[in-house]
Amino acid sequence: MVHPICKRALETWGETPQMLMVVEEMSELTKEILKNINRKFDNIEAISEETADVEIMLEQLKENYHIAEKVEAYKQQKLKRIEHYLDEFDKKSA
Ligand SMILES: [Mg+2]
Repeated sequence: MVHPICKRALETWGETPQMLMVVEEMSELTKEILKNINRKFDNIEAISEETADVEIMLEQLKENYHIAEKVEAYKQQKLKRIEHYLDEFDKKSA
């Protein structure tokens, strides 16, 4: 279920600005992750904030394209696949 504020933001500001904002927020998170890894920045606060921004924007993306159920189905499928790889990894490491 989409957060009512996310739905309202999408309705108020519209599809194009909000979908561009998804990209902008993802790039901000990317930048903070790279700073943390490449330049050894202590920026957990910034990473936390940008992760929140991305999650808020992903909610709007799912609402905009009406794909929340599909995303959830893919997520479950992919988690199962990752679990399988992990089990295989554990077997090889044992
Ligand atoms: Mg941001």
